[in-house]
Amino acid sequence: MSSVRNRNESAWLLPNDGTRTNHALRRDMRRFDDRDELDLLVVGCGAGGSVLLQRLARAGWKVAALDAGPFWDPDTDWVSDEAGSHHLYWTEPRVISGSDPVPLGSNNSGRGVGGSMIHYAGYTPRFHPSDFRTFTQNGVGADWPIGYGDLRSYYQEIEEELPVAGEKWPWGDPHTYPYRPHPVGGNGELFLRGADKLGITAKVGPVAIVNGRFGNRPHCIYRGFCLQGCKVNAKASPLITHIPDALAHGAEVRPDCMVTHIEVDEHTGRATGVHYVRDGVPRFQKARMVAIAGYSIETPRLLLNSASKRFPDGLCNDFDQVGRYLMVQGAPQTAGRFDAEVRMYKSPPPEVSSEDFYETDPAKPYQRGFSIQTVSPLPITWAEHIAAQGHWGAALREYMSDYVHWSCLGALCEFLPQPGNRVTLAEETDRHGLPVANFSYSQCENDTRLMKAAQSVMEDILHAAGADEVITIGRYAHLVGGARMAADERHGVVDAGCRTFAVPNLYITDGSVLPTQGSANPALTIMAVTARAADQLTG
Ligand SMILES: Cc1cc2nc3c(=O)[nH]c(=O)nc-3n(C[C@H](O)[C@H](O)[C@H](O)COP(=O)(O)OP(=O)(O)OC[C@H]3O[C@@H](n4cnc5c(N)ncnc54)[C@H](O)[C@@H]3O)c2cc1C
Ligand code: SF4
Repeated sequence: MSSVRNRNESAWLLPNDGTRTNHALRRDMRRFDDRDELDLLVVGCGAGGSVLLQRLARAGWKVAALDAGPFWDPDTDWVSDEAGSHHLYWTEPRVISGSDPVPLGSNNSGRGVGGSMIHYAGYTPRFHPSDFRTFTQNGVGADWPIGYGDLRSYYQEIEEELPVAGEKWPWGDPHTYPYRPHPVGGNGELFLRGADKLGITAKVGPVAIVNGRFGNRPHCIYRGFCLQGCKVNAKASPLITHIPDALAHGAEVRPDCMVTHIEVDEHTGRATGVHYVRDGVPRFQKARMVAIAGYSIETPRLLLNSASKRFPDGLCNDFDQVGRYLMVQGAPQTAGRFDAEVRMYKSPPPEVSSEDFYETDPAKPYQRGFSIQTVSPLPITWAEHIAAQGHWGAALREYMSDYVHWSCLGALCEFLPQPGNRVTLAEETDRHGLPVANFSYSQCENDTRLMKAAQSVMEDILHAAGADEVITIGRYAHLVGGARMAADERHGVVDAGCRTFAVPNLYITDGSVLPTQGSANPALTIMAVTARAADQLTG
């Protein structure tokens, strides 16, 4: 494999003078006119969109990405403060429904160049080989039209580009990481201690946080603000891992542009460009090819809002697949109190994980499994944890003043893809007059059983580590699916190369295409799937 700098020079294009943004690169970037016919236009500049943009720019394509949010500057736009970070989230209106509605509108998804990875935690595990054939293996979920082996080399590439630090990984397809594991703080130590006492394997990592120096990116300084946007440039996000290289190779990034409609020629059935709104003005950008990468809720919404005479039920929706099989992971969170001070804020929240419970155990009353990770909430999120337990007033104050004594673990439970868990269009409209997404979600029995099992293991670990009190709350994390990859158009929206079945020059390259989710955090897989699609496009 060629050296990472030969493939992607982003980390070397960042400044080395204590500031975080290469302003000259942005000032001098190529700018296209709306009438220029781009080789490919990307909608959304997050995990998937940025990797595609960088790969195609490197291959000499005329490419631009439009994002609804700003082009962030970590020095001026972000603060190491929980209350001051809400502007990082996608807070446009969305409707929720179903028997287990998933709260949206806070920190579920991001906006702006870098997407949700600006404020993601930083865990970057691979999926297991079993995730690609859960139906054949366990009779649940769906088989992917590709296998783990198709993604292995792309996982390695992206792990080098972020880069990822962690111990030798024993689960799934065992592998190593390019950077050694970080030292752990109090929360990580307690997880390791409790797991060891119970014979559970837990390992440090895998996190996309620089351990050492990488190009002009400095070492992590362990201040714990990863979920507020890393002002240091130590935590990976596409804003620093892929966008600088894309700009240096002639791509344009056009921020503050909300795409409202994909235009398809009624006669040829091919995409011709996108309608978007910038500064309140409707515009149209011509393109020979379009890729949508707007996140699991906004991508299906955009397809449904792009209905036309040729696609009356929504673009690519002739087989009623758009918006379906949207998944969220069950993410119960267990806190344990220790007499000694833990000070869980004094390190990155992502530190230690266990995938011992990831695979189906035939002795258990459920299929598939869960992973466990340190989460380390900061004070406001800690208050939400306590309040969700029903503590208010004096009791809440008491728990808050005891914050330094608490440790916190989170599970990711593999909730199954179901056709009824889907995005449709609501009657409510947004400030552009577009119908907003209605996300309906209901758990199945397997989901509920997984949540209970994960809670019990996390409580056992914290008790084994010496906790005298444990409290668990229910939560959700990570939305994927909604325009899934499948073998044919009756079962999904895109093929194995992320090309839509219905429109030959329209691609989807974000988390929407995942048919299953495992109990792994999804960003690395989204980037690897996109890198593979880019290879096929340019190869
Ligand atoms: C609090 C939190 C913690 C997380 N922690 C982890 C973690 O530790 N590890 C992990 O792997 N994952 C984590 N995730 C999830 C991960 O960040 C996402 O799964 C991933 O970034 C999704 O990638 P994407 O390409 O699908 O979309 P995004 O990265 O969300 O990118 C979508 C982009 O599209 C833009 N957009 C949307 N609609 C339009 C439109 N109509 N026009 C123009 N632009 C548009 C948005 O502004 C956004 O920038 C976390 C997420 C959250 C919210
Ligand atoms: S703990 Fe490290 S990775 Fe997280 S925000 Fe601070 S410097 Fe960045």
